[in-house]
Amino acid sequence: MGEEIKMELNIFHMYPNLLNLYGDGGNVLCLQRRCEWRGINTNIIDFTLNQEQDLSEGDLFFIGGGSDRSQNIVYPHILKYKNQMENLIEDDAVVLAICGGYQFLGESYIDADGNQLPGLGLFDYYTQSEEGRLIGNIITENQLKLKPQTLVGFENHGGRTYHDFKPLGVVKKGYGNNGKDGKEGMVYKNCIGTYLHGPLLPKNPHLADYLILKALTRKYGVKDLAALDDKLEYSAHEKVMKLYSK
Ligand code: GLN
Repeated sequence: MGEEIKMELNIFHMYPNLLNLYGDGGNVLCLQRRCEWRGINTNIIDFTLNQEQDLSEGDLFFIGGGSDRSQNIVYPHILKYKNQMENLIEDDAVVLAICGGYQFLGESYIDADGNQLPGLGLFDYYTQSEEGRLIGNIITENQLKLKPQTLVGFENHGGRTYHDFKPLGVVKKGYGNNGKDGKEGMVYKNCIGTYLHGPLLPKNPHLADYLILKALTRKYGVKDLAALDDKLEYSAHEKVMKLYSK
């Protein structure tokens, strides 16, 4: 009998100091804990402006949201990694990009001062900042066929994004990509962009496990994950749902 392999995921946390609005970084901790609870090792690699790093060993990439100021700093730096990111996404690597991170997977972001920041251009959408920020708790119905069907979160963005990709969710309460077309986020292969900030994964453990499983399937051919006790997580989920039922 061969020794059982210890599974391990390399999680790249992109620009943790600059892209970490509303505690977005907690999503990385959530992924780490949910792996540890199942005996899966994680290496968290902070990717920063000061380092040149090879991304090819990454299994899962997390990109948080940021202010227009942070976006102006980060965008020129990440452009060097466009080809690597493109290859990784085509090769089914898992990416979760929030708000400013989501915007920058597209062609460009036109900020509140009218500066046009070129994005990675991996997807053919762009984002334009408009007057009146879209702020508040949000409820969507996920398009990944996950149970429960709802995804809950908090959004705060001036940017409006329009595209024809599959959305991550259909907006039930709140604004989503632009406050108009009822779409929230985007999905392409295992790359997810979303405006849902902060403790997205702690409040939506089904989405956290979806990402972990996709990464483990790609690396080890794993077909399912051991269940965890998510009573606390789902009570946080329900709390957001209740805010809208009053
Ligand atoms: N600065 C961008 C906007 O306002 C992104 C903000 C964010 O990541 N919350 O649209």
